[in-house]
Amino acid sequence: RVHILWLRRDLRLSDHPALHAAAGTGFPGTGDGAPARVLPLFVLDPAVWDAAGPARRAHLARSLHTLDADLREAGGRLVVRAGEPTRVLPALVRASGAAEVHVTADFGPYGRARDAAVAEALDVPFRATGSPYAVAPGRVRKADGTPYRVFTPFQRAWAEHGWPEPLPRPTDLAWAHADSDDPPTAPEPAGVDLPEAGERAALAAWREFRAHGLDRYRELRDRPDLPGTSRLSVHLKFGEIHPRTLLADCPDATFRSELAWREFYGDVLWHHPETVREYLNRDLAGMAYDTGPDADALFDAWRAGRTGFPFVDAGMRQLLAEGWMHNRVRMVVASFLVKDLHQEWTRGAAHFMRHLVDGDPASNSHGWQWTAGCGTDASPWFRVFNPIQQGRRFDPQGDYVRRYVPELRHIAGRAVHEPWRIGVDGYPDPIVEHAEERRVALDRYRAIRR
Ligand code: FAD
Repeated sequence: RVHILWLRRDLRLSDHPALHAAAGTGFPGTGDGAPARVLPLFVLDPAVWDAAGPARRAHLARSLHTLDADLREAGGRLVVRAGEPTRVLPALVRASGAAEVHVTADFGPYGRARDAAVAEALDVPFRATGSPYAVAPGRVRKADGTPYRVFTPFQRAWAEHGWPEPLPRPTDLAWAHADSDDPPTAPEPAGVDLPEAGERAALAAWREFRAHGLDRYRELRDRPDLPGTSRLSVHLKFGEIHPRTLLADCPDATFRSELAWREFYGDVLWHHPETVREYLNRDLAGMAYDTGPDADALFDAWRAGRTGFPFVDAGMRQLLAEGWMHNRVRMVVASFLVKDLHQEWTRGAAHFMRHLVDGDPASNSHGWQWTAGCGTDASPWFRVFNPIQQGRRFDPQGDYVRRYVPELRHIAGRAVHEPWRIGVDGYPDPIVEHAEERRVALDRYRAIRR
Protein backbone atom coordinates (compact mmCIF):
# COMPACT_ATOMS: atom_id res chain seq x y z
CA ARG A 1 0.00 0.00 0.00
CA VAL A 2 1.44 3.36 -1.07
CA HIS A 3 0.45 6.79 0.24
CA ILE A 4 1.68 9.95 -1.42
CA LEU A 5 2.82 12.66 1.02
CA TRP A 6 2.53 15.88 -0.96
CA LEU A 7 4.83 18.39 0.78
CA ARG A 8 4.30 22.12 0.44
CA ARG A 9 4.88 24.41 3.40
CA ASP A 10 6.05 21.56 5.63
CA LEU A 11 9.59 20.80 4.42
CA ARG A 12 10.73 18.79 7.45
CA LEU A 13 10.49 15.31 8.95
CA SER A 14 10.13 16.11 12.68
CA ASP A 15 6.88 17.12 14.31
CA HIS A 16 5.02 16.32 11.11
CA PRO A 17 1.47 15.01 11.70
CA ALA A 18 0.80 14.45 7.98
CA LEU A 19 3.90 12.25 7.69
CA HIS A 20 2.62 10.12 10.58
CA ALA A 21 -0.82 10.00 8.97
CA ALA A 22 0.60 9.00 5.58
CA ALA A 23 2.75 6.27 7.12
CA GLY A 24 -0.08 5.08 9.36
CA THR A 25 2.12 5.12 12.46
CA GLY A 26 -1.04 5.24 14.55
CA PHE A 27 0.38 8.07 16.61
CA PRO A 28 -2.40 9.79 18.58
CA GLY A 29 -3.94 12.67 16.67
CA THR A 30 -2.65 11.56 13.28
CA GLY A 31 -5.52 9.38 12.11
CA ASP A 32 -5.87 5.63 12.28
CA GLY A 33 -5.00 4.75 8.69
CA ALA A 34 -3.39 1.51 7.66
CA PRO A 35 0.44 1.36 7.61
CA ALA A 36 1.71 2.31 4.17
CA ARG A 37 4.87 3.03 2.23
CA VAL A 38 5.31 6.78 1.91
CA LEU A 39 6.04 8.46 -1.40
CA PRO A 40 7.28 11.99 -0.58
CA LEU A 41 6.41 14.41 -3.37
CA PHE A 42 7.04 18.06 -4.09
CA VAL A 43 5.18 19.61 -7.01
CA LEU A 44 6.96 22.44 -8.68
CA ASP A 45 3.81 24.45 -9.30
CA PRO A 46 4.56 27.19 -11.86
CA ALA A 47 2.06 29.53 -10.18
CA VAL A 48 3.94 29.37 -6.86
CA TRP A 49 7.42 29.30 -8.37
CA ASP A 50 6.84 32.32 -10.61
CA ALA A 51 5.26 34.36 -7.80
CA ALA A 52 8.05 33.59 -5.36
CA GLY A 53 10.74 36.06 -6.49
CA PRO A 54 14.44 35.15 -6.68
CA ALA A 55 15.22 35.06 -2.94
CA ARG A 56 12.34 32.74 -2.03
CA ARG A 57 13.03 30.57 -5.06
CA ALA A 58 16.68 30.20 -4.02
CA HIS A 59 15.69 29.28 -0.48
CA LEU A 60 13.07 26.80 -1.64
CA ALA A 61 15.49 25.10 -4.03
CA ARG A 62 18.03 24.69 -1.24
CA SER A 63 15.43 23.51 1.22
CA LEU A 64 14.30 20.80 -1.22
CA HIS A 65 17.88 19.62 -1.65
CA THR A 66 18.39 19.28 2.09
CA LEU A 67 15.02 17.56 2.47
CA ASP A 68 16.01 15.07 -0.21
CA ALA A 69 19.34 14.47 1.56
CA ASP A 70 17.53 13.89 4.88
CA LEU A 71 15.09 11.51 3.21
CA ARG A 72 17.93 9.59 1.57
CA GLU A 73 19.60 9.23 4.93
CA ALA A 74 16.35 7.71 6.21
CA GLY A 75 16.12 5.36 3.21
CA GLY A 76 13.70 7.31 1.03
CA ARG A 77 14.02 10.10 -1.47
CA LEU A 78 12.09 13.10 -2.64
CA VAL A 79 10.16 12.93 -5.88
CA VAL A 80 9.89 16.26 -7.63
CA ARG A 81 7.40 16.76 -10.44
CA ALA A 82 6.95 20.00 -12.31
CA GLY A 83 3.50 21.05 -13.47
CA GLU A 84 -0.04 21.88 -12.49
CA PRO A 85 -0.94 20.00 -9.29
CA THR A 86 -4.35 19.06 -10.72
CA ARG A 87 -2.52 17.11 -13.44
CA VAL A 88 0.57 15.95 -11.55
CA LEU A 89 -1.23 14.34 -8.61
CA PRO A 90 -3.71 12.19 -10.57
CA ALA A 91 -0.91 11.08 -12.92
CA LEU A 92 1.35 10.06 -10.03
CA VAL A 93 -1.52 8.28 -8.26
CA ARG A 94 -2.10 6.24 -11.43
CA ALA A 95 1.60 5.51 -11.99
CA SER A 96 2.35 4.55 -8.36
CA GLY A 97 -0.93 2.87 -7.54
CA ALA A 98 -1.17 5.11 -4.46
CA ALA A 99 -4.25 4.53 -2.34
CA GLU A 100 -4.32 7.97 -0.66
CA VAL A 101 -2.81 11.44 -0.93
CA HIS A 102 -1.78 13.11 2.33
CA VAL A 103 -1.03 16.77 2.97
CA THR A 104 -0.64 19.31 5.73
CA ALA A 105 -3.66 21.57 5.26
CA ASP A 106 -2.97 24.89 3.55
CA PHE A 107 -5.00 27.86 4.72
CA GLY A 108 -3.95 30.57 2.27
CA PRO A 109 -6.35 31.62 -0.48
CA TYR A 110 -4.33 30.07 -3.31
CA GLY A 111 -3.59 26.86 -1.43
CA ARG A 112 -7.21 26.32 -0.45
CA ALA A 113 -8.47 26.69 -4.00
CA ARG A 114 -5.66 24.50 -5.35
CA ASP A 115 -6.31 21.75 -2.80
CA ALA A 116 -10.04 21.74 -3.49
CA ALA A 117 -9.32 21.39 -7.22
CA VAL A 118 -6.80 18.57 -6.64
CA ALA A 119 -9.15 16.68 -4.30
CA GLU A 120 -11.82 16.96 -7.00
CA ALA A 121 -9.45 15.64 -9.67
CA LEU A 122 -8.45 12.55 -7.65
CA ASP A 123 -10.28 9.29 -7.44
CA VAL A 124 -8.51 8.35 -4.18
CA PRO A 125 -8.97 10.05 -0.78
CA PHE A 126 -7.20 13.39 -0.20
CA ARG A 127 -6.43 13.65 3.50
CA ALA A 128 -5.26 16.78 5.32
CA THR A 129 -3.65 16.44 8.76
CA GLY A 130 -2.12 19.29 10.76
CA SER A 131 -1.47 22.86 9.67
CA PRO A 132 1.43 25.33 9.55
CA TYR A 133 0.10 26.83 12.79
CA ALA A 134 -0.02 25.75 16.43
CA VAL A 135 -3.78 26.22 16.26
CA ALA A 136 -5.31 25.83 12.81
CA PRO A 137 -7.03 28.94 11.40
CA GLY A 138 -10.76 28.97 12.08
CA ARG A 139 -10.48 27.14 15.42
CA VAL A 140 -10.20 30.10 17.79
CA ARG A 141 -13.53 31.90 17.95
CA LYS A 142 -15.48 34.17 20.21
CA ALA A 143 -18.18 32.69 22.43
CA ASP A 144 -20.78 33.57 19.76
CA GLY A 145 -18.81 31.66 17.12
CA THR A 146 -17.57 34.69 15.19
CA PRO A 147 -13.87 35.26 14.48
CA TYR A 148 -11.65 37.75 16.30
CA ARG A 149 -10.56 40.94 14.60
CA VAL A 150 -8.47 42.29 17.45
CA PHE A 151 -5.21 40.69 18.50
CA THR A 152 -5.20 40.75 22.32
CA PRO A 153 -8.44 38.80 22.90
CA PHE A 154 -7.46 36.43 20.07
CA GLN A 155 -4.16 35.77 21.75
CA ARG A 156 -5.83 35.04 25.07
CA ALA A 157 -8.30 32.60 23.51
CA TRP A 158 -5.52 31.06 21.38
CA ALA A 159 -3.36 30.39 24.45
CA GLU A 160 -6.35 28.91 26.28
CA HIS A 161 -7.16 26.71 23.29
CA GLY A 162 -3.67 25.19 23.54
CA TRP A 163 -1.89 22.78 21.18
CA PRO A 164 -0.43 19.30 21.37
CA GLU A 165 3.19 18.51 22.17
CA PRO A 166 5.50 18.17 19.15
CA LEU A 167 5.44 14.75 17.51
CA PRO A 168 8.61 12.66 17.37
CA ARG A 169 10.28 12.07 14.04
CA PRO A 170 9.11 8.65 12.91
CA THR A 171 11.78 6.00 12.45
CA ASP A 172 11.90 2.85 10.35
CA LEU A 173 9.44 4.11 7.80
CA ALA A 174 8.88 2.22 4.57
CA TRP A 175 9.28 4.38 1.49
CA ALA A 176 7.99 4.20 -2.04
CA HIS A 177 9.68 5.77 -5.02
CA ALA A 178 8.84 7.03 -8.47
CA ASP A 179 10.68 8.77 -11.28
CA SER A 180 11.59 12.31 -10.39
CA ASP A 181 12.19 15.41 -12.45
CA ASP A 182 15.38 17.22 -11.57
CA PRO A 183 14.96 19.18 -8.33
CA PRO A 184 14.83 22.90 -9.03
CA THR A 185 17.94 24.98 -8.97
CA ALA A 186 17.76 28.70 -8.39
CA PRO A 187 20.93 30.69 -7.90
CA GLU A 188 21.18 33.00 -4.94
CA PRO A 189 20.34 36.39 -6.44
CA ALA A 190 23.49 38.42 -7.05
CA GLY A 191 24.49 40.39 -3.99
CA VAL A 192 21.92 38.71 -1.75
CA ASP A 193 23.08 36.93 1.37
CA LEU A 194 20.55 34.25 2.34
CA PRO A 195 20.43 32.10 5.48
CA GLU A 196 20.97 28.36 5.37
CA ALA A 197 17.91 26.37 4.38
CA GLY A 198 16.38 23.19 5.71
CA GLU A 199 15.22 21.51 8.87
CA ARG A 200 18.64 21.13 10.45
CA ALA A 201 19.46 24.79 9.90
CA ALA A 202 16.08 25.75 11.35
CA LEU A 203 16.57 23.65 14.47
CA ALA A 204 20.12 24.96 14.88
CA ALA A 205 18.87 28.56 14.55
CA TRP A 206 16.19 27.92 17.17
CA ARG A 207 18.62 26.23 19.60
CA GLU A 208 21.09 29.07 19.22
CA PHE A 209 18.42 31.69 19.80
CA ARG A 210 16.86 29.71 22.67
CA ALA A 211 20.25 29.53 24.39
CA HIS A 212 21.64 32.99 23.67
CA GLY A 213 18.88 35.31 22.41
CA LEU A 214 15.62 34.56 24.11
CA ASP A 215 16.41 36.00 27.53
CA ARG A 216 17.08 39.44 26.03
CA TYR A 217 14.44 39.27 23.29
CA ARG A 218 11.96 41.52 25.04
CA GLU A 219 14.61 44.16 25.59
CA LEU A 220 16.30 44.00 22.17
CA ARG A 221 13.63 42.96 19.68
CA ASP A 222 13.06 46.50 18.44
CA ARG A 223 16.74 47.18 17.78
CA PRO A 224 17.66 46.56 14.14
CA ASP A 225 21.29 47.41 14.86
CA LEU A 226 21.62 44.32 17.10
CA PRO A 227 20.96 40.64 16.39
CA GLY A 228 18.02 40.69 18.83
CA THR A 229 15.41 38.58 17.01
CA SER A 230 15.31 34.91 16.08
CA ARG A 231 15.35 35.20 12.26
CA LEU A 232 13.18 32.11 12.20
CA SER A 233 10.56 33.62 9.88
CA VAL A 234 11.95 32.00 6.74
CA HIS A 235 12.06 28.60 8.43
CA LEU A 236 8.48 29.01 9.64
CA LYS A 237 7.42 30.16 6.18
CA PHE A 238 8.61 26.93 4.57
CA GLY A 239 7.69 24.73 7.52
CA GLU A 240 11.30 23.71 8.13
CA ILE A 241 10.32 24.02 11.76
CA HIS A 242 6.84 23.99 13.25
CA PRO A 243 5.73 26.67 15.74
CA ARG A 244 4.72 23.87 18.14
CA THR A 245 8.40 22.95 18.43
CA LEU A 246 9.14 26.53 19.50
CA LEU A 247 6.16 26.89 21.82
CA ALA A 248 6.97 23.63 23.61
CA ASP A 249 10.23 25.13 24.85
CA CYS A 250 9.59 28.86 25.13
CA PRO A 251 9.46 30.40 28.58
CA ASP A 252 9.32 33.94 27.15
CA ALA A 253 5.85 35.51 26.90
CA THR A 254 6.92 38.22 24.45
CA PHE A 255 8.25 35.69 21.96
CA ARG A 256 5.11 33.54 22.31
CA SER A 257 3.12 36.67 21.63
CA GLU A 258 5.01 37.35 18.38
CA LEU A 259 4.28 33.79 17.27
CA ALA A 260 0.65 34.50 18.13
CA TRP A 261 0.65 37.43 15.66
CA ARG A 262 1.55 34.99 12.93
CA GLU A 263 -1.30 32.72 14.02
CA PHE A 264 -3.69 35.66 14.24
CA TYR A 265 -2.96 36.87 10.72
CA GLY A 266 -3.30 33.31 9.43
CA ASP A 267 -6.72 33.18 11.07
CA VAL A 268 -7.82 36.58 9.74
CA LEU A 269 -6.79 35.69 6.20
CA TRP A 270 -8.62 32.38 6.44
CA HIS A 271 -11.84 34.15 7.39
CA HIS A 272 -11.28 36.96 4.86
CA PRO A 273 -9.25 35.50 1.97
CA GLU A 274 -9.93 38.56 -0.18
CA THR A 275 -7.87 40.69 2.25
CA VAL A 276 -4.66 39.44 0.70
CA ARG A 277 -5.27 42.43 -1.61
CA GLU A 278 -8.44 44.10 -0.40
CA TYR A 279 -9.04 46.32 2.61
CA LEU A 280 -10.12 44.56 5.79
CA ASN A 281 -11.57 47.85 6.95
CA ARG A 282 -13.54 49.01 3.91
CA ASP A 283 -13.94 52.51 5.40
CA LEU A 284 -10.38 53.20 4.35
CA ALA A 285 -10.84 51.96 0.79
CA GLY A 286 -11.77 55.46 -0.40
CA MET A 287 -8.45 57.01 0.65
CA ALA A 288 -6.90 59.19 -2.06
CA TYR A 289 -3.50 57.94 -3.17
CA ASP A 290 -1.03 59.39 -5.65
CA THR A 291 -0.39 57.72 -8.98
CA GLY A 292 1.34 58.77 -12.20
CA PRO A 293 4.93 59.47 -13.18
CA ASP A 294 5.83 61.58 -10.12
CA ALA A 295 4.47 58.93 -7.77
CA ASP A 296 6.34 56.27 -9.75
CA ALA A 297 9.60 58.19 -9.35
CA LEU A 298 9.07 58.40 -5.58
CA PHE A 299 8.24 54.69 -5.48
CA ASP A 300 11.45 53.92 -7.35
CA ALA A 301 13.45 55.98 -4.85
CA TRP A 302 11.76 54.12 -1.99
CA ARG A 303 12.41 50.66 -3.34
CA ALA A 304 16.04 51.44 -4.20
CA GLY A 305 16.69 52.90 -0.73
CA ARG A 306 17.35 56.40 -2.03
CA THR A 307 14.77 58.51 -0.20
CA GLY A 308 17.33 60.59 1.69
CA PHE A 309 15.91 59.28 5.00
CA PRO A 310 18.74 57.07 6.27
CA PHE A 311 16.67 54.72 8.44
CA VAL A 312 14.21 54.10 5.59
CA ASP A 313 17.00 53.63 3.07
CA ALA A 314 18.89 51.22 5.33
CA GLY A 315 15.74 49.09 5.63
CA MET A 316 15.02 49.04 1.91
CA ARG A 317 18.61 48.13 1.17
CA GLN A 318 18.61 45.43 3.84
CA LEU A 319 15.62 43.93 2.01
CA LEU A 320 17.56 43.89 -1.26
CA ALA A 321 20.75 42.60 0.37
CA GLU A 322 19.28 39.87 2.59
CA GLY A 323 15.72 39.23 1.45
CA TRP A 324 14.78 40.16 5.01
CA MET A 325 14.14 43.32 6.98
CA HIS A 326 13.86 43.89 10.70
CA ASN A 327 10.25 44.20 11.92
CA ARG A 328 10.65 47.71 13.33
CA VAL A 329 12.02 48.91 10.02
CA ARG A 330 9.29 47.09 8.05
CA MET A 331 6.78 49.22 9.96
CA VAL A 332 8.70 52.43 9.35
CA VAL A 333 9.28 51.94 5.62
CA ALA A 334 5.66 50.85 5.15
CA SER A 335 4.38 53.92 6.98
CA PHE A 336 6.72 56.06 4.90
CA LEU A 337 5.39 54.72 1.60
CA VAL A 338 1.74 55.07 2.64
CA LYS A 339 1.79 58.29 4.64
CA ASP A 340 4.79 60.26 3.41
CA LEU A 341 4.67 59.21 -0.24
CA HIS A 342 0.86 58.72 -0.30
CA GLN A 343 0.94 55.42 -2.14
CA GLU A 344 -1.38 52.52 -1.68
CA TRP A 345 -0.23 49.74 0.68
CA THR A 346 -0.83 47.10 -1.98
CA ARG A 347 2.03 48.48 -4.03
CA GLY A 348 4.49 48.19 -1.18
CA ALA A 349 3.14 44.76 -0.20
CA ALA A 350 3.78 43.48 -3.73
CA HIS A 351 7.36 44.77 -3.61
CA PHE A 352 7.90 43.03 -0.25
CA MET A 353 6.45 39.77 -1.58
CA ARG A 354 8.88 39.82 -4.49
CA HIS A 355 11.93 40.28 -2.28
CA LEU A 356 11.21 38.79 1.15
CA VAL A 357 12.60 35.34 1.73
CA ASP A 358 9.93 34.95 4.46
CA GLY A 359 7.22 36.51 2.23
CA ASP A 360 3.94 35.17 3.53
CA PRO A 361 0.58 36.47 2.24
CA ALA A 362 -1.07 36.54 5.69
CA SER A 363 1.69 38.27 7.66
CA ASN A 364 2.67 40.54 4.79
CA SER A 365 -0.75 41.77 3.70
CA HIS A 366 -1.87 42.25 7.28
CA GLY A 367 1.42 43.80 8.36
CA TRP A 368 0.87 46.34 5.59
CA GLN A 369 -2.81 46.81 6.37
CA TRP A 370 -1.97 47.40 10.02
CA THR A 371 0.43 50.16 9.02
CA ALA A 372 -1.98 51.61 6.48
CA GLY A 373 -4.65 51.79 9.16
CA CYS A 374 -7.07 49.49 7.35
CA GLY A 375 -6.27 46.17 9.01
CA THR A 376 -6.88 44.46 12.32
CA ASP A 377 -6.26 46.48 15.46
CA ALA A 378 -5.35 49.12 12.96
CA SER A 379 -2.65 51.34 14.18
CA PRO A 380 -4.65 54.57 14.14
CA TRP A 381 -4.29 56.37 10.84
CA PHE A 382 -3.07 59.52 12.50
CA ARG A 383 -0.12 57.64 13.97
CA VAL A 384 2.48 58.58 11.38
CA PHE A 385 5.96 57.29 12.12
CA ASN A 386 8.60 60.00 12.04
CA PRO A 387 11.42 58.26 10.13
CA ILE A 388 14.13 60.38 11.70
CA GLN A 389 12.97 59.95 15.29
CA GLN A 390 12.42 56.24 14.74
CA GLY A 391 16.00 55.95 13.53
CA ARG A 392 17.40 57.88 16.46
CA ARG A 393 15.39 55.84 18.92
CA PHE A 394 15.88 52.31 17.59
CA ASP A 395 19.31 52.72 15.98
CA PRO A 396 20.76 54.99 18.65
CA GLN A 397 24.38 54.86 17.50
CA GLY A 398 23.56 54.72 13.80
CA ASP A 399 25.26 51.32 13.32
CA TYR A 400 22.31 49.91 11.36
CA VAL A 401 22.33 52.80 8.89
CA ARG A 402 26.09 52.62 8.38
CA ARG A 403 25.87 48.85 7.76
CA TYR A 404 23.51 49.22 4.79
CA VAL A 405 24.18 52.73 3.48
CA PRO A 406 27.88 52.92 2.59
CA GLU A 407 27.64 56.54 1.46
CA LEU A 408 27.09 57.48 5.11
CA ARG A 409 29.75 55.27 6.70
CA HIS A 410 32.06 58.15 7.41
CA ILE A 411 29.52 59.87 9.69
CA ALA A 412 30.05 58.84 13.30
CA GLY A 413 27.31 58.23 15.84
CA ARG A 414 23.69 59.27 15.59
CA ALA A 415 24.43 62.23 13.33
CA VAL A 416 24.10 59.65 10.55
CA HIS A 417 20.32 60.00 10.86
CA GLU A 418 20.46 63.61 9.61
CA PRO A 419 23.13 63.73 6.90
CA TRP A 420 21.65 66.91 5.37
CA ARG A 421 23.03 68.83 8.32
CA ILE A 422 26.50 67.92 7.07
CA GLY A 423 25.92 67.56 3.33
CA VAL A 424 27.09 64.30 1.79
CA ASP A 425 28.10 63.84 -1.84
CA GLY A 426 26.38 60.94 -3.54
CA TYR A 427 23.55 60.62 -1.03
CA PRO A 428 20.18 62.19 -1.90
CA ASP A 429 18.56 65.01 0.01
CA PRO A 430 15.23 63.97 1.57
CA ILE A 431 12.78 63.45 -1.30
CA VAL A 432 9.90 64.89 0.75
CA GLU A 433 9.44 67.01 3.83
CA HIS A 434 8.10 64.77 6.55
CA ALA A 435 6.10 67.35 8.53
CA GLU A 436 4.38 68.60 5.37
CA GLU A 437 3.53 65.09 4.09
CA ARG A 438 2.18 64.16 7.49
CA ARG A 439 -0.23 67.09 7.24
CA VAL A 440 -1.30 65.99 3.76
CA ALA A 441 -1.88 62.44 4.98
CA LEU A 442 -4.00 63.61 7.90
CA ASP A 443 -6.05 65.91 5.64
CA ARG A 444 -6.80 63.04 3.29
CA TYR A 445 -7.80 60.89 6.23
CA ARG A 446 -10.16 63.58 7.54
CA ALA A 447 -11.66 63.95 4.06
CA ILE A 448 -12.80 60.32 3.94
CA ARG A 449 -14.00 60.37 7.55
CA ARG A 450 -16.42 63.16 6.75
P1 FAD B 1 11.09 37.40 15.68
O1 FAD B 1 10.96 38.72 16.32
O2 FAD B 1 12.16 36.51 16.16
O3 FAD B 1 9.67 36.70 15.87
C1 FAD B 1 9.49 35.28 15.85
C2 FAD B 1 8.43 34.91 14.86
O4 FAD B 1 7.18 35.48 15.23
C3 FAD B 1 8.70 35.41 13.46
O5 FAD B 1 9.58 34.57 12.77
C4 FAD B 1 7.31 35.43 12.87
O6 FAD B 1 6.91 34.15 12.45
C5 FAD B 1 6.44 35.83 14.06
N1 FAD B 1 6.22 37.28 14.06
C6 FAD B 1 6.95 38.23 14.68
N2 FAD B 1 6.40 39.44 14.48
C7 FAD B 1 5.32 39.26 13.70
C8 FAD B 1 4.35 40.13 13.15
N3 FAD B 1 4.36 41.45 13.37
N4 FAD B 1 3.39 39.61 12.37
C9 FAD B 1 3.34 38.27 12.12
N5 FAD B 1 4.23 37.40 12.62
C10 FAD B 1 5.21 37.89 13.41
N6 FAD B 1 6.47 38.24 8.62
C11 FAD B 1 6.58 37.16 7.82
O7 FAD B 1 6.89 36.07 8.30
N7 FAD B 1 6.37 37.26 6.47
C12 FAD B 1 6.05 38.45 5.88
O8 FAD B 1 5.85 38.49 4.66
C13 FAD B 1 5.95 39.61 6.70
N8 FAD B 1 5.68 40.82 6.15
C14 FAD B 1 5.57 41.92 6.97
C15 FAD B 1 5.26 43.16 6.41
C16 FAD B 1 5.13 44.30 7.22
C17 FAD B 1 4.79 45.64 6.58
C18 FAD B 1 5.34 44.19 8.60
C19 FAD B 1 5.22 45.39 9.48
C20 FAD B 1 5.65 42.96 9.17
C21 FAD B 1 5.76 41.81 8.37
N9 FAD B 1 6.08 40.55 8.93
C22 FAD B 1 6.17 39.46 8.10
C23 FAD B 1 6.21 40.37 10.37
C24 FAD B 1 7.63 40.51 10.97
O9 FAD B 1 8.24 41.66 10.47
C25 FAD B 1 8.53 39.31 10.67
O10 FAD B 1 7.85 38.11 11.00
C26 FAD B 1 9.81 39.36 11.50
O11 FAD B 1 10.51 40.53 11.21
C27 FAD B 1 10.65 38.15 11.19
O12 FAD B 1 11.89 38.20 11.84
P2 FAD B 1 12.23 37.20 13.03
O13 FAD B 1 11.95 35.80 12.62
O14 FAD B 1 13.61 37.51 13.48
O15 FAD B 1 11.16 37.65 14.10
